Amino acid sequence: MTETPPTAHERQKKPLAQRPSLKRVYASIIVAFGWLLFLALWLFYYATSFGIVQNIAVFLLSLVVAGMILTVLWVPWATDRPIEAHCIGRIMNFIPLELSVTNCFLIKAGDHYVLIDTGYEDDWDLFRTRLNEAGVELSQISHIILTHHHDDHCGLLRNILWENHSIRVVMSHLCKDLILRGENDRTHGGGFLNRRIAFLMRRRRLYLSLVLKKVIAKGKIDTFPPYRLRNCDILVAEDTGLREIGIPLDSKIIETPGHTVDSISVLFDDGDCLIGDAASNFLQFLGAKYCVVLITDMSAYYQSWEKVIAAGARQIFPAHGAPFTVDKLKTNLWKNKAENIVPYT
Ligand SMILES: [Zn+2]
Repeated sequence: MTETPPTAHERQKKPLAQRPSLKRVYASIIVAFGWLLFLALWLFYYATSFGIVQNIAVFLLSLVVAGMILTVLWVPWATDRPIEAHCIGRIMNFIPLELSVTNCFLIKAGDHYVLIDTGYEDDWDLFRTRLNEAGVELSQISHIILTHHHDDHCGLLRNILWENHSIRVVMSHLCKDLILRGENDRTHGGGFLNRRIAFLMRRRRLYLSLVLKKVIAKGKIDTFPPYRLRNCDILVAEDTGLREIGIPLDSKIIETPGHTVDSISVLFDDGDCLIGDAASNFLQFLGAKYCVVLITDMSAYYQSWEKVIAAGARQIFPAHGAPFTVDKLKTNLWKNKAENIVPYT
């Protein structure tokens, strides 16, 4: 008897306690003991040959090396928060598809599905697996709504449309030119949220190589296959009800710029909000305070939060990290400052 993949509903019931794997724990213990052993050997055999400043430098260097190894071990675990754990007992309007870094969502709309965002170009196999687990065929998808043009949101567009070219792509009118360039926009200013995040994000090639399980070339970072708008695609230039563009859902697209100029979110009448990167639950331990790591315009970003709150959002589903209630946006509004943004270069 062949084993059938779990349905999306079954996946939501799956116990998802965030316990780290034993391998990770053992590796950390080995790193800690290795570090202590190094210090002991250094103190017994070498310390007396060096001055106090040199010994302090060696100690600090060993600390940094041990810290870097532990960071590589634990950051993927710390940033991997399965979305379902927060949705148990909740009847959702949609099926989350967790890719390597990006949460995409499938929404049942009549006889078809609407896909919110895709993922990295290298997420193709994982995307197909998730779709299979959800029990949905690519041929059942009628629309893709892109929350913005970034590589981790539109990287799979070409592959998906290659399989089903009848899918209509919905995006902001400001996305059209950016997505044609094939690289994340840096022409509108902005940068990393703060210095700590900038430090980490400048090493994201290593992180992405780990989570995508392949070496990412330097020139490939922040790029994606360019996409040229087709006649059948739909551009939205203002807040737009989904029914207005032929999607039978009680939901609307609202413009939520700030992360990028072309950011949009999907807000359901019942308060569920698929917010893309207009908010995030990622790298909170580095002071993100529910902001995403890259900001083009901080004022516009928080004004988008105010708009989402005023529009009646209740539960926020970000593209990065687990869902959270709108209270988090209310209590963290304007907490990050534009002057702390670190430019890309
Ligand atoms: Zn983004």
